Amino acid sequence: MKPIFKLVGNTPLIRLQTASRRANATILGKCDFLNPGGSVKDRAAAHILLQAVKRGDIKSGDTIIEATAGNTGIALVLLANAMDIRSVIVMPETQAEAKKDALKNLGAELILTPACPLSDPRNFRNTAKRLARQNGWFLANQFHNTDNRNAHITTTAAEIIAYMESHHIAPNTLGFICAAGTGGTIGGCSIGLKTYDHTITIGLVDPDGASLYAYYTKGTLEATGTSFIEGIGQGMITPQLRDITIDYAYNVSDKTAMPYAYDAIGEGINVGMSSGINIAGAVLLARDMQQQGVKNPTVITVLCDTSDKYKDKMFNPDFLTKNCIRMPAWLSP
Ligand code: PMP
Repeated sequence: MKPIFKLVGNTPLIRLQTASRRANATILGKCDFLNPGGSVKDRAAAHILLQAVKRGDIKSGDTIIEATAGNTGIALVLLANAMDIRSVIVMPETQAEAKKDALKNLGAELILTPACPLSDPRNFRNTAKRLARQNGWFLANQFHNTDNRNAHITTTAAEIIAYMESHHIAPNTLGFICAAGTGGTIGGCSIGLKTYDHTITIGLVDPDGASLYAYYTKGTLEATGTSFIEGIGQGMITPQLRDITIDYAYNVSDKTAMPYAYDAIGEGINVGMSSGINIAGAVLLARDMQQQGVKNPTVITVLCDTSDKYKDKMFNPDFLTKNCIRMPAWLSP
């Protein structure tokens, strides 16, 4: 295994002080922003690549292709570099120039597509699929390839179990919650933790405009509103989410989520927007567990990446005012 792969995962847990106080419980953040590519997606990218090599689907000198505008792209490009695998990233041309530059600078070949719906063959995901087929390239396929969620069964969930055991936390006092993009993190952690002990409580937190909250509370995929938080918000039961157990689901607006990200930054933990909604969800889950009679619950969530990529939203007073987001104290006029 190439050296950089050894730095993926095994991230520390940090006590989130404001959230813990609000929930009157122990809220811990898994510092996945410390992964070498800077996000939780390193875990999925590493496992997808290593398993593909193991199966003989890809080897050094080959090409991996993926449709992504975000963290998965960065993770795949860096880890593919380490394996002498060429990476091609397909994204809609409307994505921020900074994202395009970041991927190109690290060594990806970029293919830009017009911004169009999945029903259009020119859509970025359809384009990646077609190019993979035509050229014999390996399609990472993070939405469908269940090595994505397997990464979280074998690493994230396993690390949480090890922590729980070494800190003598009773499984029925432990909760885990996060939001879903592909669903790999929540899917894999739900399977891994429930298989270990079904009394561990699993929560899902959904932004406005996503359909999973309705699915897990009413059984129908429906969405209202919109969210500007990047990387999360799912409208389908992806293969990563198939047959998993979700005990509690919550819908959290951007307006509620963002202050939790600023609170973490105020504690010295540089997190991005999806971490804010994850922390908000952790507080809600800890309160519900206490309502169910659990004393001193410990709720773990994921700090997926840092704020650096989102400065045009997170630290832009005009954007925040327009979206009715309470500004962090240090930006207030
Ligand atoms: N947060 C951020 C910032 C992400 O980029 C992603 C991945 N799209 C997620 C959360 C969700 O991760 P997953 O794909 O495992 O559901």
